[in-house]
Amino acid sequence: MSKIILTGDRPTGKLHIGHYVGSLRRRVALQNSGEFEKIFIMIADAQALTDNADNPEKIRQNIIEVALDYLSAGLDPAKSTILIQSCIPELTELSFYYMNLVTVSRLQRNPTVKAEIQMRNFETSIPVGFFTYPISQAADITAFKATTVPVGEDQLPMIEQTREIVRKFNDVYGGGEGVLVEPDALLPTESAARRLPGTDGGAKMSKSLGNCIYLSDTPADVKTKVMSMFTDPDHIKITDPGKIEGNTVFTYLDAFSKPEHFAEFLPDYANLDELKAHYKRGGLGDVKVKKFLLAVLEDTLAPIRARRAEYQKDIAGVYDILKKGSELARETAAKTLDDVKAAMKINYFSDAALIQSHVDRYKG
Ligand code: ATP
Ligand code: MG
Repeated sequence: MSKIILTGDRPTGKLHIGHYVGSLRRRVALQNSGEFEKIFIMIADAQALTDNADNPEKIRQNIIEVALDYLSAGLDPAKSTILIQSCIPELTELSFYYMNLVTVSRLQRNPTVKAEIQMRNFETSIPVGFFTYPISQAADITAFKATTVPVGEDQLPMIEQTREIVRKFNDVYGGGEGVLVEPDALLPTESAARRLPGTDGGAKMSKSLGNCIYLSDTPADVKTKVMSMFTDPDHIKITDPGKIEGNTVFTYLDAFSKPEHFAEFLPDYANLDELKAHYKRGGLGDVKVKKFLLAVLEDTLAPIRARRAEYQKDIAGVYDILKKGSELARETAAKTLDDVKAAMKINYFSDAALIQSHVDRYKG
């Protein structure tokens, strides 16, 4: 079976370093590995509208920002198809049919949806569209017959939901070989990158929580954010022993630092383990660790920023990439929808045997 990637982001803001380590960095590596037959990267505007229905302008303004972040992080439109979700109406149609295969109680049990409902204070006023977004995500993934979905940990319940829908579909409709494919999530190898905390130490860096370092932040912004980052609140004097667990600066180092960064920026230490050991013993100040983190982050962010500046000079060209990618992606989704409808017997005009049987029914 050919290997196909589908993944994406909601255009609710610019992309941050949590997106980068959680999914974007991996996508670029997989794209360049040559192991995948097709790669689809989706800007999920329709999904973003499920909890931003009253603010479509925000979504519209951020599509270009997400596209610029993609290109500057190294996604190459010659190798990866970048598409806008709403440009592919077949996805909506698939969702509508999948809704019959999922119960309300199953959606209510989804831990990510539960947490997001709480975070958004929806309580009893949950928009139906938001509540059902795991189903629409299943449509996105299966429309492209994706085998592989590189995502952060918060997305695992969505992939599980998709796998259940595929199995149910095959049970009920037979489906046939390869009409729908059960996808696998691909989590970052480093556990710190699976759910990168916010700069405030909050459980997840998230656009909605305002605790982000954005890929497009200026060096001055990044410096301010790093220098005021949450560390160990009990590490007051330099000589105090410090904690690594829950210390955001070390979590970011886990996610971003490479062995060669030590020789380059902090030659007193051979590796991260040595740095952690010194911090735990006491005698190592937060400022020194933060300055190192800043150098490590800039090593990743500076080239991204430079490529962004280039793409920003040709915004019309970026729009063209999105339009062409969406058109190409639509062809694949339309083919899957045809197969799904045939399996579900919602094809009335293309089945000569059906029409003939009705002719026979009323033959004199
Ligand atoms: P929103 O608050 O609008 O939901 P978000 O910051 O959660 O925004 P999404 O667009 O929902 O971002 O997520 C896109 C991808 O980035 C998903 O694969 C998700 O798992 C991953 N991701 C988002 N935040 C993090 C994070 N803090 N750490 C690791 N991966 C993340
Ligand atoms: Mg999210």
